[in-house]
Amino acid sequence: MARIGFIGLGNMGAPMAANLLKAGHAVAGCDLNADAVAALVAAGGSAAASPAEAAAGAEIVITMLPAGAHVRGVYLHQGGLIEAIIAAGARPLLIDCSTIDVASAREVAEAAAKAGLAMLDAPVSGGTTGAAAGTLTFMVGGAAADFAAGQPILAAMGRAIVHAGGPGAGQAAKICNNMMLGINMQGVAEAFVLADRLGLDRERLFAVASQSSGQSWALTSYCPVPGPVPASPANRDYKPGFAAALMLKDMRLAEAAAAATATPAALGALAAGRYQAMVDAGQAGRDFSAVFPFLAAQKKE
Ligand code: NAD
Repeated sequence: MARIGFIGLGNMGAPMAANLLKAGHAVAGCDLNADAVAALVAAGGSAAASPAEAAAGAEIVITMLPAGAHVRGVYLHQGGLIEAIIAAGARPLLIDCSTIDVASAREVAEAAAKAGLAMLDAPVSGGTTGAAAGTLTFMVGGAAADFAAGQPILAAMGRAIVHAGGPGAGQAAKICNNMMLGINMQGVAEAFVLADRLGLDRERLFAVASQSSGQSWALTSYCPVPGPVPASPANRDYKPGFAAALMLKDMRLAEAAAAATATPAALGALAAGRYQAMVDAGQAGRDFSAVFPFLAAQKKE
């Protein structure tokens, strides 16, 4: 069993850390929010007052923070976790599970490598329900040997652990996947709005498209109209699930990566603009599939 430092005990980090405890690991946790640290202690973990304290004596250090700036801040600034680890003479494996921009992921991985530390970027898919159930998918970037070392730890929090490639490849896989999903969902939503306006029954369209070439995960597992897929957020007034604000964050990361690589991604940019419009209209906290009622309320843009 490993000693693990866990930094960032939010909506995702708290249940992930709880699963590490359930698997028998020792977890020292740190968060800016004292209640989150208290909850970890109640679940059997220990409290750390800073990232460096969480990392002290750990074989593995995991971060689950909001965005690139926080990850750079924790590892490179604020006293610098990497610096503190080196000063303590330790060599833990660093695993960042946050969803961040590829450039920040590579910057931090490079700084770690320069200091002689192994690091993986390992963003997740599966949301808070997957985090609680321990069924997350991890998309992992880093050296093969480091992936092999981190795999058993990640397996305590997830079901599918995929080695995507070198440093930053996990983040690249995450934003490419979510760009596909963000676009797919709007394709399904547009088709259902059109069906409504053509007088086509929604269940009939679902029966056809779910068995035809229009089929997609957004349609058959997460249908944005109420009815055809009982588990989808459309049946609970679009309570997330995956909030529009989080989808917007990932679409913007994809857009920035597309711009940086001169990639033609007009559909991604258009879809991002629509999630932005939802957020601007006060719908940041609704599930991203609420783009269906959002579009249904509009005439041609
Ligand atoms: P969250 O805001 O609930 O949690 C982040 C936590 O980090 C907070 O508790 C915050 O206090 C803490 N934090 C911030 N700066 C810190 C610092 N310097 N030191 C210590 N703690 C600090 O966010 P979340 O929903 O848990 O998401 C975390 C990451 O996972 C994000 O990158 C998000 O995009 C990604 N993600 C989220 C979901 C989801 O459904 N929520 C799904 C997949 C991926």
